[in-house]
Amino acid sequence: MTYPFILEKLTGTSGGRTLLLLSGGTGSPKLLRGLLFYCSGAQVTVIANTGDDIWISGNLVCPDLDTVIYTAAGIVSERWWGINGDTFRTHERLASLGHKEALIIGELDRAIHIFRSDLLRRGATLTDATLAMCASFELSTAVLPMTDDFVPTMIVTDNGEMHIQDFLVRYQQAPNVSQVRCRTGKMTKEVQTALNEHRSVVIGPSNPISSIGPILAVNGMQQALKDRFVIAVSPIIRGEPISGPAGKFMESRGLPVSSLGVAEFYSDFLDVLIVDGRDDISQSDLPGDIELLRADTIMYGVEQSKNLATEIVRILPSQS
Ligand code: GDP
Repeated sequence: MTYPFILEKLTGTSGGRTLLLLSGGTGSPKLLRGLLFYCSGAQVTVIANTGDDIWISGNLVCPDLDTVIYTAAGIVSERWWGINGDTFRTHERLASLGHKEALIIGELDRAIHIFRSDLLRRGATLTDATLAMCASFELSTAVLPMTDDFVPTMIVTDNGEMHIQDFLVRYQQAPNVSQVRCRTGKMTKEVQTALNEHRSVVIGPSNPISSIGPILAVNGMQQALKDRFVIAVSPIIRGEPISGPAGKFMESRGLPVSSLGVAEFYSDFLDVLIVDGRDDISQSDLPGDIELLRADTIMYGVEQSKNLATEIVRILPSQS
């Protein structure tokens, strides 16, 4: 392990490995930012959650797909949604007319939603439209929606059942959650091909239930993962997610809010769980044959993203 690892560090390359990443819209894109220092864009394929997708003002907004694309293009804002330096005059003008949008949408971001939705209205699949967006940004990274079906994730709460975006934005994650409903989508031929081309898969530090859960609900996905070497990064450190409602959502599934809960949720297919060095879990806590690895997993900035990416590239089998 030592020599290829050092070589990779020195040359900043992945040593020819290609990488398949399952992603939500915050933790995993932070990891992607680091991985793209070690892999050329063409060596990376991302399958992103579309359970957060929502039609707003006539256009389909795909928050996770867009954050992944903006990250790969180097234009994602520091908030991890939208485009750096964007302006919000249309959103504000609409609000002053009494038209309240479910998400805050900037002008440059909106252009992407219009571009995508126009392609969809003309008969393109979401995969076609997403790859067209990648091409428009001259990305060599392939970003794939987990499915072409519209499968919004619904949250069952003590305030009723609502779209995940309503739960996150309108209700500010406040209601008690009894269930997270992920719908089953059909696997696309592009996702199937990406899986066929990779013997290993990386699950980024994303919300296991609402960001990775919908990807796992795609027909055939769990079986495909059972047949592959799967590495996941825990988004939970010492019983707390770094951001977002992962704790509430894990509790609604009867899982402990911990890296152990993450391991249990992925236990049917997981080979390696990377946890933060500060976490209190130990190898003997983990179910089955899951191997525990420690790293610095909090990605405050690019340097931490690169360091975590280094750890992942180091343990990827060379025919990944
Ligand atoms: P969403 O689509 O915006 O919900 O984003 P994700 O599901 O991709 O990411 C949210 C999850 O990422 C949360 O559970 C956080 O705990 C986790 N997360 C965010 N930043 C980091 C980080 O720097 N390190 C780790 N380990 N987890 C993170």
